[in-house]
Amino acid sequence: TPAKPSYSRVLLKISGEALMGDQGYGLHPPTVQRIAAEVKSVHDMGVEICMVIGGGNIFRGLQGSAQGMERTTADYMGMLATVMNALAMQSALEELGVFTRVISAIPMDQVCEPYLRRRAVRHLEKKRVCIFAAGTGNPYFTTDTAATLRANEMACEAIFKGTKVDGVYDSDPMLNPDAKRYETVSYDDCLAKHLKVMDASAIALARDNDLPIIVFSLDEPGGFRGILAGQGTYTTVK
Ligand code: UDP
Repeated sequence: TPAKPSYSRVLLKISGEALMGDQGYGLHPPTVQRIAAEVKSVHDMGVEICMVIGGGNIFRGLQGSAQGMERTTADYMGMLATVMNALAMQSALEELGVFTRVISAIPMDQVCEPYLRRRAVRHLEKKRVCIFAAGTGNPYFTTDTAATLRANEMACEAIFKGTKVDGVYDSDPMLNPDAKRYETVSYDDCLAKHLKVMDASAIALARDNDLPIIVFSLDEPGGFRGILAGQGTYTTVK
């Protein structure tokens, strides 16, 4: 019998870059499929799952604007990139038999559902994975902020931020072999020490609503499920 999960509703935030595998750009379907299988394994425990996926593997507004594009237009392009990633994840999850909805902050009815909070909650209650796309629908925000916003609106118990490393360190563990991982770290320390967890507006929004952020490695097979079963290493921002 599956272990009893420690959370009943969570939001998984991953960057767009998590979907590009070893490529420098875009989507790597086998990587999307691998992450979808990790999500399914948690869904199989009966956990209700929201997802927010970034768009940085395709387009970032700041990069476009640094190259002369008008900022808000570039940000809308970034938001559209997240819709493509969401559709790729939907396809991979449904291939595994998991029912999903892609729910966009920017209505595009032929492609996915518009965001209606009550309807999204209903999907979760029916055990559909809700993939929230197009960020917050507003320029000058990020998908980290969108993740925190949706997690609050959906009454998730925590945000799971899947990264390349198994938590938050006092310096970059890829560069410094003596870097130390925090078991827990406060929101204010994340902000004051500029720890690379999420951007400042996302952390402040989590702090102001007492929403824990669990930073864990998405590269660790079974890692997401392990944490819900009370195992593994990670950092809790609270
Ligand atoms: N974006 C935005 N508003 C939002 C969310 C995202 O304008 O609410 C745009 C922004 O240009 C951002 C891009 O979408 O650079 C991709 O999102 P993000 O950079 O958060 O993706 P990630 O780094 O997680 O892959």
